[in-house]
Parts: sequence; structure tokens; C-alpha cells
Amino acid sequence: MPACQAVVVSCMDFRLRERLASVLALRHGISGFDLICLAGGGKNLAEAGPVRDVVLDNVEVSLRLHRPGQIVVVNHQDCGAYGGSAAFASWEAEREFHRGELELAATFVRNAFPGVEVRQLFVTLEETDSTGAQQ
Ligand SMILES: [Zn+2]
Repeated sequence: MPACQAVVVSCMDFRLRERLASVLALRHGISGFDLICLAGGGKNLAEAGPVRDVVLDNVEVSLRLHRPGQIVVVNHQDCGAYGGSAAFASWEAEREFHRGELELAATFVRNAFPGVEVRQLFVTLEETDSTGAQQ
């Protein structure tokens, strides 16, 4: 049984499932991870509210039971919780917005769990986007 390397906070979007596992494994060397999936992913940590409390409770359980070395906060392209890609004027605007959201989420998690490494991850739905940029 492989060790739990990370607890991942992600969106429940079905399009993300295989892509997220692939990105985590191939680019970050993470194959064993606890997965917390609620619509919006990092949005639930960036914003105060009852959902954030649920996510934090689950992160705490993961850290206590499986002792992963890091927390990975995930947002993704075309996330319906943010209105999808259509809510943004451009791909660059969408990506920049999510960068800010992930920073808010990661900062909150770092303060909630000091001493645990926190990583931000923005996942595109395809290997490369229209600009050729990769995540
Ligand atoms: Zn989503």
C-alpha cells in the first residue's frame, strides 16, 4: 500500500478526475492522495463560510489519519462554480483570477495548518491550452 503523499482539495467536476490524477502523478510525483471534492475546489478555502469549515475538518482528518506531507489546493479551467470560462474576457484573465483565488486559499490553509507544505495547482482541461501554456 503506497503512502499518502498529499491531501488534495479539488472541484467535483467529472472532467477533472483523470486529468488531475495525471497531472499530480506526472508533474508532481504524487500518486497516493486523499481527495476532498466539492464544487469550486479552492473557492471553498478562499471564501469564509460553512463549506470552508467542512473542508478544513476533512483536511484535518486526512492529516491526522494518513499524515500526508502536503496539502494541494486545486482550481481548474472552466469551473462552473465561478461561472465557467465564459465569465472571463480571456484565457489570461481566467488564469490570473484563479491565481489570485489559489493564493487566498493557500494562505488560509497555511495559517490553519502551520508547518504543512501547501501547494497551489491550476489544472487545464487539456494537456495544452490555446496559448500553448502548460500546467
Ligand atoms: Zn469546477
